[in-house]
Amino acid sequence: MTPLIAKTILIVGAIAWFVIRWPHQRRSWKTPVSKNQRTTREKLLLLSNFMGLGVIPFTYAFTGFPRFADYPFNPALALVGAVIMAASLLLFHRVHRELGRNWSDSLQLRETHTLVTHGLYTYVRHPMYSAFFMWGLAQLFLLPNWIAGPAGLVGFAILFGFRVGREERMMEETFGDQYREYMKRTPRIIPWVY
Ligand code: SAH
Repeated sequence: MTPLIAKTILIVGAIAWFVIRWPHQRRSWKTPVSKNQRTTREKLLLLSNFMGLGVIPFTYAFTGFPRFADYPFNPALALVGAVIMAASLLLFHRVHRELGRNWSDSLQLRETHTLVTHGLYTYVRHPMYSAFFMWGLAQLFLLPNWIAGPAGLVGFAILFGFRVGREERMMEETFGDQYREYMKRTPRIIPWVY
């Protein structure tokens, strides 16, 4: 493992992520929305995620900026990062399939929305957010830079922190006791822990 391979893995991972998401994105444009909370605040949160997992690491991978924040590359750590990246993509793919037409990149409910509690949703309420945290962790291990490395985790943590409570309230308002029961028996993003 070399720094160049590590950067390449990150770029290929981001492209794979896009390829996995694209058909769902297209389908979601065609699926009517019944409740929309895609506010300016939500758009800013999406931007924070895009900066942390996209703009900052891509700039680093292609230009080396910000070079002053570099630290020595550790091949073993980068290998761990590569494994986490692969796991995150697998998870991402499966979650998209399980969530199906209920998926949105923001806080939205579809006209035909159903509550998903099977598959990965048996273990955690937000497996897609688990996958994003794993991607951020992979980036941390793959990029030997104190800014570009943790940027993904920070960017996504901001989105998660400001969104998840609202998302759960929206689900509770829509699905009532069914969602409250689901919350009681299912942790948020780490099975058996949180
Ligand atoms: N937080 C989930 C879903 C992310 S996509 C996860 O991490 O896996 C965001 C949209 O998914 C929200 O707008 C909400 O409408 C929908 N959603 C969240 N949890 C859901 C569930 N258990 N079943 C169906 N839709 C859900």
